[in-house]
Amino acid sequence: MELKHIRNFCIIAHIDHGKSTLADRLLEFTHTVSKREMKDQLLDQMDLERERGITIKLQPVRMMYSIPNPLSFILDGQGSKINDKGLLNSEFILNLIDTPGHVDFTYEVSRSLNACEGAILVVDSTQGIEAQTLANVYLALEQNLVLIPVVNKIDLPNSDRKKTAEELKTVFGFTDDEILYASGKTGEGVEKILKAVIERVPPPKGDSIKPFTGLIFDSMYDIHRGVVVFVRAIDGQLAPRQKIFMIGSQTQAESLEVGYFHPKMEKSDGILTGEVGYIVTGLRDVSKARVGDTVTLFDRKLDVKQLPGYKHVKPMVYATIFPVSGDDYPVLRDAMEKLKLSDAALEFEPINIPSIGFGFRTGFLGLLHMDIVQERLTREYNLDLVLTAPSVAYHIVTTNGKDLYVHNPAEFPDPSIIREINEPWMKVEVLTPQEYIGPIMEIANQRRAIPKDIKFIGSSRVDMQFEMPLNNIILDFYDKLKSVSSGYASLNYDFIEERVGDLVKVEILVATEPVPALSAIMHRGVAATDGKKLVEKLKELIPRHQFEVAIQATIGGKVIARETISALRKDVTGYLYGGDVTRKMKLLNKQKKGKKRMKKIGRVDIPQEAFLAVLKK
Ligand code: GDP
Ligand code: MG
Repeated sequence: MELKHIRNFCIIAHIDHGKSTLADRLLEFTHTVSKREMKDQLLDQMDLERERGITIKLQPVRMMYSIPNPLSFILDGQGSKINDKGLLNSEFILNLIDTPGHVDFTYEVSRSLNACEGAILVVDSTQGIEAQTLANVYLALEQNLVLIPVVNKIDLPNSDRKKTAEELKTVFGFTDDEILYASGKTGEGVEKILKAVIERVPPPKGDSIKPFTGLIFDSMYDIHRGVVVFVRAIDGQLAPRQKIFMIGSQTQAESLEVGYFHPKMEKSDGILTGEVGYIVTGLRDVSKARVGDTVTLFDRKLDVKQLPGYKHVKPMVYATIFPVSGDDYPVLRDAMEKLKLSDAALEFEPINIPSIGFGFRTGFLGLLHMDIVQERLTREYNLDLVLTAPSVAYHIVTTNGKDLYVHNPAEFPDPSIIREINEPWMKVEVLTPQEYIGPIMEIANQRRAIPKDIKFIGSSRVDMQFEMPLNNIILDFYDKLKSVSSGYASLNYDFIEERVGDLVKVEILVATEPVPALSAIMHRGVAATDGKKLVEKLKELIPRHQFEVAIQATIGGKVIARETISALRKDVTGYLYGGDVTRKMKLLNKQKKGKKRMKKIGRVDIPQEAFLAVLKK
């Protein structure tokens, strides 16, 4: 098949605007998936994605589409009819990539965009443009993609297609005849979308004569077949059983199998120029085939230059992951390395925190990312883990002028050698119906935000811009924003720079022993009140022991708050009347389960929730 018959595109939108559902309809319409196999959000293949109803991973799928009436198609928006373009037949290969919408998974989106020439921009017509709509459009424009705006969910009674189209026109400058209307639910408008993809998205460029050059945009680990890389073929083609070479890692391997996504992997006798497919490499060492590396033919490796790959993504929050049982440390290390293959944004390094033991300091793109990583490690690798509270990265300048980067309050140096503490500041964008401007201003002010700009989007909604310390965003800004706006406001943020902050370390002592993993960095102005709240919360979360447990908060050695957990008198089940055996069992089981996620520090068992207490106000 010639390049002229190939289209690579992805679907981008704010979370829940209907990307995965629209992808279902495209799969159905092109008969890629039979009616019998069809289920809602089919491309959300991970259990976790299906349970939570969100897309976490990019997901490629290859569709064949025979256009019904070739003469009615106009290609490249240049007015030439389809047979003037010398097309041999009416069959097209459409490579679609479904993407996540949440801000924490923007790296998945940007790599998907990089493998495509066009993007379908979906906007929910009951919501309008939201924060990730803007962010994703900017990403797509940076990569010079052709955008096809689609006003979605037009089947809903509260759909306002006119208003949504108006927003698309005023915010992005689309014209009336570019905007399509569809429902991923009913399938209305889907054929027009496919037509627009073929007409407006340019075919991939590439040279099929040149040696195979593929960009690894994703990968996964298969226990039987080793590393499987997902590639966008830039030039040339690749057959099975060829000697391949990863230029970045200087590693040789063999293409044990190649193929396409349907959306399950299906082997083929080659990957063609311009297409998206996979290569089974058999590699066991996961570090040898990294996302962003270039795959070529071993024999032609000197004729091929490494592709630029991807910009490094900077983790935003850090937490330390410990196995509940120290014996699981090697299993955890192996699991993290494998998980990194399918989660290219994950970063980690081994660390030993006195009194807790060995674990990994891990960098995440945000709290949802952290939550998902913990969940995947627990499920996919059957590990019991404890995570410390997430922290931003602090840049400390010491009194003798040294720079220290600290990712965890536990690692803070003695206050006497700190000259200044710098913390990350973010550019924050909130899109909201205008009636919530007041309450949003208020919660932003309470979190050290600096208002920057506010402008109308359409007639009743606004785009508010702030600068805010990342620390205050991760604490509870998102939850508060959702609650003061009845769920209508959406949020996006981006790193600006480090700024000096008036910060102090609040240390927590449990049964007179300092527990570094519970310490927190707080703004001096709120440290006394928030430190007191933290101690009260810990009192609720730490179970009673055979002895009295004192919990204290200190700043620079001075106690600012204290609570006491009284000693346990009897077995918990002793409180139950009548000796109901099943209840007793249940309670014991519950206790056992609870035990699993506790970490013993000194003499005291501290549950997972306690480590995260600092996040909850
Ligand atoms: P994504 O996060 O952008 O992938 O969104 P999903 O495809 O997962 O859809 C989010 C929710 O909107 C789901 O509950 C869908 O059933 C629903 N949905 C998606 N498209 C439509 C549509 O066109 N009409 C209606 N009524 N609901 C839709
Ligand atoms: Mg989705």
